[in-house]
Amino acid sequence: MNVLPGLYNMGNTCFANSVLQCLSHTRVFREYCRLGKHSKNCFSDIAKYKFVQSVDSFPVEKLERLPAIQAVLSKTTKFCSFCIIESHIRGLLDEKKNGQMQVRPIGIYLLF
Ligand SMILES: [Zn+2]
Repeated sequence: MNVLPGLYNMGNTCFANSVLQCLSHTRVFREYCRLGKHSKNCFSDIAKYKFVQSVDSFPVEKLERLPAIQAVLSKTTKFCSFCIIESHIRGLLDEKKNGQMQVRPIGIYLLF
């Protein structure tokens, strides 16, 4: 199995990062997320927000956009934590293709 990009410690996030790393390197779970099997059948409408899939690769200088993103997400009544994790893992797979070595798991910590 390919090793995915590492996660930056964004300040006291090392414990959560270790859980995310374990999940993203669990073969069956990774494949489930890669294929989007959860979000295809989820009640949530969060998957329609395309920026959720790309938020982890936001350059630091664009972080000021995140409050606006949070504002949009706070209006949804169909928020789903699993969809966020699925998007994160799919994003890691994309970043691996792009040669990215580390990812800031911004989406995980700001969208929950
Ligand atoms: Zn969901």
